[in-house]
Amino acid sequence: MTIHMRRSGRLLVLALFLSSSVPAALHAQKPAPATVQDDADFADFVKKATTKPEFLSPLVDHLPKKAGVPSPKDVLGYHIGTEKKLTYAADQQRYFRALEKALPGRVKTEVTGKTEEGRDIMVLYVTSEANLKSLETNRQNMRKLADPRGLTDAQTQQLIASTKPHYHISAGLHSQETNPSEAVIELAYRLAVSEEPYIKQIRDNVIVSITGVTDVDGRDRYVDWYYAFKINEPYEGGENYGDVPYWGKYVFHDNNRDINYGVDSLRAHLNWYLNWVPPIWHDLHEAQTLLYTFSGQPPQNANLDPILYTELPFFATYEVNKLTSYGMPGVWHFGFVDMWSPGYLGFAAANHNGMLRMYEIFNQGGANTKKANLSGPQTQRQWFRPNPAPAGAVDWSIRNSINYAETGVLTALELTSKFPQMVVENFAKKSANAVKRGAEKPPYAFVIPAGQRDQTAVDRVANLLRRQAIEVHRATAEIKIKDGTFPAGSYIVRLNQPYGPLAKTLIEKQNYPDASLTTYDDSAWSMSMASNVDIKTIEDKTILDAPATLLKEDVTTLGLLNDPTGAIGASTSTYIVSHNGALSLITLRYRLKDVAVKAPKAAFKVGDREFPAGSLLIPASDRARKEIEALGLQGLAVQEMPSGIDTMDVDLPRLAMYTTWSSTEKPGWVRLAFDRFEIPFDLIHKDHVQAGANLRSKYDVIVMPHQGNNGKSIVYEQPKLSKPLPYKKSDKFKSLGMYAETDDVRGGMGLAGAAEFQKFVDEGGVLITMGVASYFPAEFGLAKGVDASSPAQGFYAPGPYVNSEILIANHPTMFGYAQKTLPVRYAGGPLLQAGPPPGAEQFAGTSPERPQVIARFTGGDAGVLSGLMRGADQTRNRPMVVDAPSGKGRVILFANNPIYRWQTFGEHEMIFNAILFWNDMANTTPPKPSTAAQKN
Ligand SMILES: [Zn+2]
Repeated sequence: MTIHMRRSGRLLVLALFLSSSVPAALHAQKPAPATVQDDADFADFVKKATTKPEFLSPLVDHLPKKAGVPSPKDVLGYHIGTEKKLTYAADQQRYFRALEKALPGRVKTEVTGKTEEGRDIMVLYVTSEANLKSLETNRQNMRKLADPRGLTDAQTQQLIASTKPHYHISAGLHSQETNPSEAVIELAYRLAVSEEPYIKQIRDNVIVSITGVTDVDGRDRYVDWYYAFKINEPYEGGENYGDVPYWGKYVFHDNNRDINYGVDSLRAHLNWYLNWVPPIWHDLHEAQTLLYTFSGQPPQNANLDPILYTELPFFATYEVNKLTSYGMPGVWHFGFVDMWSPGYLGFAAANHNGMLRMYEIFNQGGANTKKANLSGPQTQRQWFRPNPAPAGAVDWSIRNSINYAETGVLTALELTSKFPQMVVENFAKKSANAVKRGAEKPPYAFVIPAGQRDQTAVDRVANLLRRQAIEVHRATAEIKIKDGTFPAGSYIVRLNQPYGPLAKTLIEKQNYPDASLTTYDDSAWSMSMASNVDIKTIEDKTILDAPATLLKEDVTTLGLLNDPTGAIGASTSTYIVSHNGALSLITLRYRLKDVAVKAPKAAFKVGDREFPAGSLLIPASDRARKEIEALGLQGLAVQEMPSGIDTMDVDLPRLAMYTTWSSTEKPGWVRLAFDRFEIPFDLIHKDHVQAGANLRSKYDVIVMPHQGNNGKSIVYEQPKLSKPLPYKKSDKFKSLGMYAETDDVRGGMGLAGAAEFQKFVDEGGVLITMGVASYFPAEFGLAKGVDASSPAQGFYAPGPYVNSEILIANHPTMFGYAQKTLPVRYAGGPLLQAGPPPGAEQFAGTSPERPQVIARFTGGDAGVLSGLMRGADQTRNRPMVVDAPSGKGRVILFANNPIYRWQTFGEHEMIFNAILFWNDMANTTPPKPSTAAQKN
């Protein structure tokens, strides 16, 4: 640190300041200027609103008051942390704008995007007058340091010396975690107005920005729900009214797991980050006792710079130190979240050579003061928790949480203000190291070869990488290197770029470092496996000089209709669109929903070109041709179809998706995928499947996405313990009742609903169940001859990619898959068993109700392709996809979850096929006697 101190006189002063024994953080070391006084009303309030003196700190037991600058109470009508008061996003933004208006020299707001429901996403900047004036210059400097290629050492040093660290704080990603979005309102005010020396130092040395609400739609919906129900929750015990069924439009808690930034409003946060590249992104959450500050424990992603792993505990232990010294119990930094998955929202910072910081702060949701019973390991002393929270009953108010949140963040900002150049220099070093590593050590690149079966999948990978600011080049000539020969047009991801380590993290196989360790989210996400796209790792350094051009914008796959007979003209009768696995095939079918489309039951040839089973045969028209080309599909225009081809009609089903009320998130990802691929459906729930529902008269196919824990949780959902909880639109609570409505979210479909599903299938409907939802038809007897069990003790599979084997390649669900084995994400679905139960003769032989295993997991340790699975033998030869006929219809069970987040594109096609060919599944070749399906 002393090395950097030499660079400016100002920093020398700081060094002296640091070495003094006077705690810089404590306020009121000297009288504030006359214009800023303490707010006596607040001091009185905070003392009463905090349930015990040790839950308050000297940083937040007072609030400045300055004439002409509105405090939060002046605008909102209440102090932050008032019991039973939660702030809507629009009111928070109203306050931020009022603060900006009163102090335009120190505060600036920026609308950075719109949510799915049209609300503003806002970032507030607060810093000194001088820093705010040079905000744009500082941003540009930070971007230069983020990509140091071409900078001389002198330029780098000059930039480091003249650039202020930018510290970003985000709150309200998880809507039920209510306190952080309140705390940052007061924080913004305090930072803008206070003249305490340590805050002045923060303003002078740090550019602070705040995303006050990250999931803006979710916040408003949660606050509506809070005022509708949760505000009535009692002080102790009694009824808990449960959570609002939806946060954002699509996802709930997984908004912190969207590794490919598939949700637009989440991508807006990424884009903002990439524009500003703050070296620190501090994300505030609410859980754990009483404040956990993330320090990056194992397993750790070794692609991230070692410097990061020293910065994280540096900040965390400082916070534990300061808050402990203020007498606040329960502050700790180790033993919770690890550093393995790169998919958390704020991990955008760590992934881009900055630093993700994270808190979990105790609260009980909402804003009611309630009795909490603190217990468990987090109330016990540990080396990383020297002053644990007291075990036993304690009154807990939201103000307590706000005190912890704000004190912690102020402490982190104070630390940053003491070492501003260190933070900037570390960022510059991490960025420079990233470029260097890719230039000096293999692998040097990844190549995504051109000419793969489905170019839309290849282009999607290029675009997903570009979305995270990873540079992708396109080869302008054939590449011949030690690793192979690749055609012109192949994509090259060079690793000697600032985000080379991120490319490596996203693409490569995850070699989980220690099977004895658990991990907080997925253990694997390998993009090649998730996308079913071939990506080559390149060890030959000459790849860095291969002739190639940088992609400047996203790639649009160009569709192509070859016409061997000349120009496509009036004599063309049919377009044959190859089923090569492109996900946009179903989009094409829906865009041409009024057109009669057929598909061959088996592969056929036109000349020497082969078209797989399930290719679409479309009557020629300008409109069809435009859509085929726009969707990146490949095909052939013919004057006449070859004779003797056995075809089926590709009828579109009347489609519904079933959602429970207690687990809307996993269906949310499927809704997102269906919306993106333009698959229209009705969202149905328990109210739609009550006795006499007659589902078959309304639908042909019902998709039941992965949700719940087992069949019972899907049938019975949330028990009816409390009063009825309507989720309905009203004038008072406008955010409720969106996406679905009900008079009562509790209770589930019950056995009557399960019987309606049975009727639906027996009358010719197709029920498609995914992941955990596949317990339902197995446990409730809808899928004849199929049983589901849970893995035995010792099994642990946090989302690894595993191998599967396609057993019936001509079953329509497998159309478009040319390979025999397929990597899939292990989804924690049931261990299925399919075949005649002992003594059940009706299933023997060629009974029409005999289930067929279409694909299975190969299992065992050898079947684990990426990430961690303990007890992998339990999955050996277990069915993955089962077609279980029942009456006139069938259940298609997937033990995998083919539509998992915006991620498992390599598996989506199985679901899309099941929809397109819903009434074409009866006559596929039964499994050979040697397969596992019949051994069971
Ligand atoms: Zn959270």
